[in-house]
Amino acid sequence: MVFDYFGTVEKLKQEVDAVKERLDSRYLELLGPEQFAKLERIANRVLSRDAYFDNPADYMRATGETRDWSLPCHCFGTILSETPVKKGIQMNGIVSSAFYLSEDALKKGAKFYNGLSNADQYLPVYVHEFDHFVFSSLQNPSIEIVSGILTPERFNDPMDIRALAKRLEHANIPANEKVMAMRVAIIEYTLKEISELGTRFMDTEVLRPLGVKTSVELMDLSAPVIGSVRINGVDSEFKYQIAGNPFHGMDKSQIIPGLLEWQKHIRFQFKDPIVDEFFQSLHGIKYQYLPFKEYLRRDKKHERRERRLAMKIK
Ligand SMILES: [Zn+2]
Repeated sequence: MVFDYFGTVEKLKQEVDAVKERLDSRYLELLGPEQFAKLERIANRVLSRDAYFDNPADYMRATGETRDWSLPCHCFGTILSETPVKKGIQMNGIVSSAFYLSEDALKKGAKFYNGLSNADQYLPVYVHEFDHFVFSSLQNPSIEIVSGILTPERFNDPMDIRALAKRLEHANIPANEKVMAMRVAIIEYTLKEISELGTRFMDTEVLRPLGVKTSVELMDLSAPVIGSVRINGVDSEFKYQIAGNPFHGMDKSQIIPGLLEWQKHIRFQFKDPIVDEFFQSLHGIKYQYLPFKEYLRRDKKHERRERRLAMKIK
């Protein structure tokens, strides 16, 4: 069994129980036997009561994540994030998954993700978070791991590239560092977009046979729109995709296999030897997917966080 739920929200439990066998065969159909078997191995190891949180304080304490608590999420813990981009990645590490799914968050999520026909169903919201887990388990390395490595490298919020360019204009650092900050931000932004849109595509494919529609279907296969931005005083133009479908031109049946091997398909609008080297080094990443409790026991960052918290309480 792959698709299951071990949290405390009774309504979601009932919805999952009613369809879990059917959804298991659907994942097998969409992923193929080999990937499905890999997913099953990881799911059996990682998905248990310990990986489900319904209380923001507990979730925050365990993952160190601060976020908007109105929506559910899948968090991906990683200890691979200590190696800087400029040196590539040579580290081995441990990773795990956890879900935040409170009744309240599921209610708000249902309004956000679902079509009007199923506005009070929690299932599509959970399928979305579960699909993040599916990609985290099957991509090698997962997009979430790579964004996790980039996050400490970026100059500031990567989701607003134009705002970053404005901030860098006044930053007291050499031009080559500004260029690197922009490229790292564009890579992270692009990866996050692909990860989110790809997950929504998977949601739609998973739920279609049940007759469940989501409001965020990736049916618009319009061509990508490339935007560009400049920083005053820096002799480079930064191009990146601002709209349209990143899977444009790909046959629909190829989108899921393409997402699983995302490094082969992802394209950036610039050539940079440091960035190439970074992507090359991804081949060398080795990590173990652990149950959340075991992960926490071995995660040094978590240890430091606990110590800080204990000091505050004193
Ligand atoms: Zn998402």
